[in-house]
Amino acid sequence: MAENKDTVTVVGAGLVGSLVAVYLAKRGHDVEVLERRPDMRREVVDAGRSINLAISTRGLHALRQVGLEDEALRHAIPMRGRMIHPPQGALVFQPYGKDDSQHINSLSRAWLNQFLMTAAEATGKVRIRFKQRVTHADFSTGVLTVRDDATGEERREATRVLLGTDGSASAVRQGLEQVPGFAATQEQLGHGYKELTIPAGPGGAFQMEKHALHIWPRGTFMLIALPNEDGSFTCTLFLPWKGPVSFESLDSPARLEAFFAERFPDAKALIPDLTEAFFARPTGSMVTVKCAPWHVGDRALVLGDAAHAIVPFFGQGMNCGFEDCVVLDGLLAQRASWDGVFAEMTRLRKTNADAIADMAVENFIEMRDSTGNPRFLLEKAVEKVLLNAFPGEFVSRYTLVSFSRVPYRLAYEVGAIAGGIVSELADGLSRAEDVDLERAGRLIRSRLVPFMKEHADGFRAEG
Ligand code: FAD
Repeated sequence: MAENKDTVTVVGAGLVGSLVAVYLAKRGHDVEVLERRPDMRREVVDAGRSINLAISTRGLHALRQVGLEDEALRHAIPMRGRMIHPPQGALVFQPYGKDDSQHINSLSRAWLNQFLMTAAEATGKVRIRFKQRVTHADFSTGVLTVRDDATGEERREATRVLLGTDGSASAVRQGLEQVPGFAATQEQLGHGYKELTIPAGPGGAFQMEKHALHIWPRGTFMLIALPNEDGSFTCTLFLPWKGPVSFESLDSPARLEAFFAERFPDAKALIPDLTEAFFARPTGSMVTVKCAPWHVGDRALVLGDAAHAIVPFFGQGMNCGFEDCVVLDGLLAQRASWDGVFAEMTRLRKTNADAIADMAVENFIEMRDSTGNPRFLLEKAVEKVLLNAFPGEFVSRYTLVSFSRVPYRLAYEVGAIAGGIVSELADGLSRAEDVDLERAGRLIRSRLVPFMKEHADGFRAEG
């Protein structure tokens, strides 16, 4: 058990910072959280990126460990699959899992952040100080430079143990760049995003299928929509920054209206304020951040997006950050001090964070392009047949990432093997029902099952 009860300084009261504060408080630490924004429970503030987000098994498990899952699920809308809106023809529903029990959940980011801040404060051991912006972190001394955004005053604050959960543009990570041996890369995606709203219909009715993540795949760009509790949907348009169809080219109301009328006519009919919203709302950017090591001795650690920002196409950024909290807590449970805890975090988590970062980029291509493609639809259908016909033997990458806690690295590797099997079986098929189950069994037992046996420890981390 951790006997050392140092006060921990956490920079950033976003999703991960607030949750890690709950975990640390439950282990007996006093926690000081410095947050640059005002308190969003008292003042209207932009909750940051994306109005809603998808939480799945890893994130829910992290909430469950500290007794917060049930309340979160009361505010969540289950999404059982993707509802594809093709350019022409009928909608196609692709279930996410083997049955409805395997679903992801749409949750308001602002609600979740406020809920976690309140839960942290309710422990009696966490103090969140708002409008406190860290402008510099000096790891030779452990001193932070903090600007009070309310008064404009700047001060220096000493820390003993520091956690940087200040998001993808982390000031703490920038401080790490001065430490010899630290390296970071940032890759901006060539696409940006814009959020739009489909309001609720009469009486708060959902105007599209409520229990689905809607996707309009269109090759180099796409639109998605997630349901909200009040009957509305938040749509996110992903477009290249520049080029023939891009944020740059949609530079007038007339061009925008024509673009939506041609490419997303059904969505256009449901977004009454399309033009005002499109030109009034900011365009967001997306970045993949990889860095190492995540720590400086036993003094400081970055986690969440500060350590591993990823693009949002697997719906895993927050889920991965919440899993960081669980792993950190597990290490603290085993040790009497901070000695080696942060180094072990880097060792355990870095490879997994890199794996989900790469899978998220790959999923972007799948979502915007392949979900509308007949071959892709056939492979998804074959995958579903195999999931049902070979329970415990056949697993898919999506299932492992979203519905298990199997380390992301293993999910990545298994996904490549499983994907190869599906692709071979789909060759020459026109209907998934005709898949050769005998051959499938042979392929699964010769390629997939041995890999899973070899990594049996990782595959025990279900649910
Ligand atoms: P953040 O949420 O960015 O919080 C950082 C906090 O630190 C903020 O409160 C900020 O104000 C504060 N801060 C920043 N700098 C300073 C400073 N210098 N001093 C003090 N405070 C500071 N993930 C999912 O799991 N599922 C999804 O469906 C999903 N959808 C997404 C959709 C979009 C469009 C985007 C962009 C991301 C999505 N994500 C999703 C990813 C998810 O948003 C992030 O992984 C998650 O917010 C990371 O949480 P965090 O606490 O590490 O960082």
